[in-house]
Amino acid sequence: MINGEKLTATPIRWAMVGGGKGSQIGYIHRSAALRDNVFQLLAGAFDIDPQRGRDFGASLGVDPGRCYPDYQTLFAEEAKRPDGIQAVSIATPNGTHFAICKAALQAGLHVVCEKPLCFTTAEAEELQTLAASRGRIVGVTYGYAGHQLIEQARQMIAAGELGDIRIVNMQFAHGFHSAAVEEANPATRWRVDPKFAGPSYVLGDVGTHPLYLSEVMLPELKISRLLCSRQSFVASRAPLEDNAFTLMQYHGGAMGFVWSSAVNAGSMHGQKIRVIGSKASLEWWDERPNQLSFEVQGQPVQVLERGMDYLHPAARHDDRIGGGHPEGLFEAWSNLYYRFALAMDASDRDDRAALAAIRYPDIHAGVEGVRWVENCVRSADLGGVWVDYR
Ligand code: NAD
Repeated sequence: MINGEKLTATPIRWAMVGGGKGSQIGYIHRSAALRDNVFQLLAGAFDIDPQRGRDFGASLGVDPGRCYPDYQTLFAEEAKRPDGIQAVSIATPNGTHFAICKAALQAGLHVVCEKPLCFTTAEAEELQTLAASRGRIVGVTYGYAGHQLIEQARQMIAAGELGDIRIVNMQFAHGFHSAAVEEANPATRWRVDPKFAGPSYVLGDVGTHPLYLSEVMLPELKISRLLCSRQSFVASRAPLEDNAFTLMQYHGGAMGFVWSSAVNAGSMHGQKIRVIGSKASLEWWDERPNQLSFEVQGQPVQVLERGMDYLHPAARHDDRIGGGHPEGLFEAWSNLYYRFALAMDASDRDDRAALAAIRYPDIHAGVEGVRWVENCVRSADLGGVWVDYR
């Protein structure tokens, strides 16, 4: 159980790029990083607008002298300080991730980067090579991957409780962009502009989330080929899709499906994953994250509740409060951020055994998300045909 005890000898000296005033995702980064005292926010280039970024940083309690106008100045100035930052989180629009992540690694920093890591697999692999050569950690914020019931599913599947895995049925299909809301909302506008969002909208924005959950639950499962069809139901979003269906065949014969959508009218979030085996199925839904449905063929459905003694010990480790009380997205993010810190700390101490034992969405997860989007777009743009996964 997590109860506020020290997890690292000292907090990691940390900065943010992006995540400024009014941004959608900045606060949860700070909340997660600071919650367990594993990071200390000391600097930043919080905003595309330097003055707004400085004012905002100061309002967070950051020394105004360490609120920089851009990421280049942040990295250069902090490198001159004996107490300069050790890590940076990148929470800017997609089109900036590659350049900022690369510059951060070249400056010798550990990185937490928003998904998608970048636009192409070649770029992602370049970042992976750079991170490896510099011995730096890159964490990617697939937030719910830190939830205890995802770990429970992983343990139950590994123990064979589902039998042979046949089908993985996934979706992240919300309805918030059923109309052209981007006309009045800048945070949505960049998401449907290829210059800022990259080659896809919903595939990268939402589809990669349940895809990564499947990678956590089923680490052995590898895609052999896929077929994707994507649509722009709000026509002005073309060529970017606001809805996509992806059918996947895995090596070994299992099948998978991902529905990625922003036009599922009436749906709040709709992120679900159902893993179907020869004996039983598991289903998890992010709108009820504390319940995991375990359905054995021929038996009544069992609802496994977070925080209960019948769960696997690994799925109890990150409880912050007992069962019955809800834990959700903020706790899952905190669980990721403390693992990022442990990984950075282990890396700095060159403790490879400790590093290997920490499960978190790492640079490999980032690369695989980009690879999946790239393959989906290739299939869709060929007319929705099967393509070999590469
Ligand atoms: P947003 O448009 O709401 O905010 C972006 C912030 O970045 C703003 O503060 C902006 O001023 C700042 N910014 C832009 N360019 C910058 C630059 N060059 N230097 C410094 N600051 C800069 O965007 P958002 O919704 O918060 O999304 C940011 C990223 O987070 C995106 O990549 C998005 O895909 C990702 N995201 C991830 C999740 C998740 O669950 N992991 C959820 C939402 C968004």
